[in-house]
Amino acid sequence: MKINNHKVVSENASEKITQEKTGNKGGTMTPGFIIIHFTAGRSAESSVEWFKNPGAGASAHLVIGRDGKITQLIDFNMKAWHAGVSRWAEHVGFNNFSIGIELDNPGRLKKEGGKYIAWFGKEYPEENAVEAIHKHEDTPSYWHSYTEKQIQTCLEACKVLMQKYPTIKEILGHDDISPMRKNDPGPLFPMENFRARLLGRHDDTADIFKITTNGTNLRRGAGTDHSVIRQLSKDTEVEFIKSEKGWFYVFIAEKPNDGEDVLYGWVHNSLVRK
Ligand SMILES: [Zn+2]
Repeated sequence: MKINNHKVVSENASEKITQEKTGNKGGTMTPGFIIIHFTAGRSAESSVEWFKNPGAGASAHLVIGRDGKITQLIDFNMKAWHAGVSRWAEHVGFNNFSIGIELDNPGRLKKEGGKYIAWFGKEYPEENAVEAIHKHEDTPSYWHSYTEKQIQTCLEACKVLMQKYPTIKEILGHDDISPMRKNDPGPLFPMENFRARLLGRHDDTADIFKITTNGTNLRRGAGTDHSVIRQLSKDTEVEFIKSEKGWFYVFIAEKPNDGEDVLYGWVHNSLVRK
């Protein structure tokens, strides 16, 4: 696949790509991020229809079906309504600068008497229900699996997007930018693998942020109920490892003077910037 005039187009017959239109969109934008979602819906077709419904107030640039079929609803230089209230580091309001990719997937499944049931009541076979712990939660639950074709297509789409738009510097989940509201794409999406392959970061190219405020607490866990390890001064450089519940788990790249050897901890994501 490749991108022409802000639309994805297929380069061979095995790539199924359809263009649709929706009024659920904003003005022009320059993409700086790709945000991955699951639809929490019944099918790719029903999600596409929902995103075309003016009453939905929601949309995405791409919907990827379980068979790998791509439906594009909005050009990549226009705002889609996929992120809602969202923030990550110093960035707020991700609809204004991100491409939203939705994967057809019903999301979390509830196990009831040997049946695996989505929030909208549909029952799914046991082989599609995988037990996993969401990174924002403490206990396991069941999640509907993705297909290999779907993940491969998503990876390919991200690759061509990043080639076409060098302004894209990050790929994140909806649960990274709206951790209190959202759990998609969830624990079955291989985000670490995607980030490693697409962002190409290795040990020698660390993802460095700076602390914005003197006295920023470095905590033992992702939340104010966790104790403070030490306080960090403004402009301290920290290396990003992962995010959870709106907090960043970081490595303190700049060794503190007082000889303390605890160099890992959590800072709230509003207190760091690139
Ligand atoms: Zn989402």
